Amino acid sequence: MSEIYTGVKFKYIRLGDIQPSEEVEYQAQNISKVLGELPTDCSSGSSGNISVKTEGGILISSSGSLLKNLLYPEHFCEVVSNSDEKRIRFFGKDLPSSETRMHLLIHEKRVEIKYCLHIHTSNITKLQILNRFPITSQFLSYGTINLAQEASNNLQSNDIVILRDHGIVIVGEDLVSIFRESVRVSSL
Ligand SMILES: [Zn+2]
Repeated sequence: MSEIYTGVKFKYIRLGDIQPSEEVEYQAQNISKVLGELPTDCSSGSSGNISVKTEGGILISSSGSLLKNLLYPEHFCEVVSNSDEKRIRFFGKDLPSSETRMHLLIHEKRVEIKYCLHIHTSNITKLQILNRFPITSQFLSYGTINLAQEASNNLQSNDIVILRDHGIVIVGEDLVSIFRESVRVSSL
C-alpha cells in the first residue's frame, strides 16, 4: 500500500554544508549506531526518517537515505526553520527528509522530547486491526501539512501514532528506548 515517492514537497533554501559541532557529530554517530541494528523489516521500502533536537534546530536524516545505513555527514541535515516557514532552511549535502515539516511540528508541540522516529512497517494492516495505538483518521499523503498536523496532534497525548496505511511515528527522550519500541511494534 505504499505511495509512489515523487521527492520532497516543500520549498527550501540550502544554507551550505552541515556545520560541524560536537553535538551534531555525537548525535549523528549515535543515531547511525543505534539504527544500524534495525531489523531489515523495519527499514523496508523507501525507509523512514529520524530527527533529534539540537541547539540550532533539528538534525534530521536526508531525503532518500536508509535508516539502517546512515553515514555522517552525508546523510544528515540540520534544519533551522520553524514548521510554519514557507521555505525550509537547512544545512546539508542532500535535501532533508520529505517529512521534515512533520518532524518540526512534532518537536514544537512536544518540546520535552528529544527524538522522533518514523518507520514503515510491513505489519501496518495488522497494527490497525489491533487498534492499540492512536491512528490517523484517514490515509494522508506523505510530506503534507495534513499529515504533519494529524500526526503531531495525536502525539500530544501519546508517544506513538500510526499513520494509516503508511507507517508509525515514535517520540521520546531516549533513542535506545524508541528504537526498541519501534522493533517491538513492528513485530506485533
Ligand atoms: Zn513515511
